[in-house]
Amino acid sequence: MSGECPKCNLNDMVIKVSSIFTSGFSHTTAQSGPTLGVGLYKGKLGVGIGGGSSSSGISVSELSMRLKPPEKPKGLGCIIPFLVCFGGGFLLTIAVNDIVIPMILGAIGFIFWMVRLKLSRDKKMEIYDSLMAEWNSMYYCQRDDVVFIPGSVSIKSPESLQSYFNQKLS
Ligand SMILES: [Zn+2]
Repeated sequence: MSGECPKCNLNDMVIKVSSIFTSGFSHTTAQSGPTLGVGLYKGKLGVGIGGGSSSSGISVSELSMRLKPPEKPKGLGCIIPFLVCFGGGFLLTIAVNDIVIPMILGAIGFIFWMVRLKLSRDKKMEIYDSLMAEWNSMYYCQRDDVVFIPGSVSIKSPESLQSYFNQKLS
């Protein structure tokens, strides 16, 4: 049920964005040797050879990189607030020659920081989920090099799609 491209009003060159992205990846268990990636680009089948040094063993075709989904918000980054609060607590311990007050202040600061991080991450995950749903319903027209959602008149280039995702998640 691929919809028609809003630009050329045809659907013969239309592919689902998520399936282009998936076909652009070629997973391999081998840790060495070049990996092959096959992808569709402007109607042509392209083959890309990825460097064998990559430990992940994944190569990505050019088009699938241009159509990649939004990036998942990163983890809480626990180590930075942890280091700052305990580093600060440690310095304060030396300064006031007392361990109880700096430890309490450090713990309060740490908890406060984590709650703030969690709230902002929850909000980002919500945005991420809705962007993923959007991405999953997107189609790509190879003739016009545009991305669209069937039923919607708005079209995006793969590049503006990426900046749209980044802007929403920043
Ligand atoms: Zn088109």
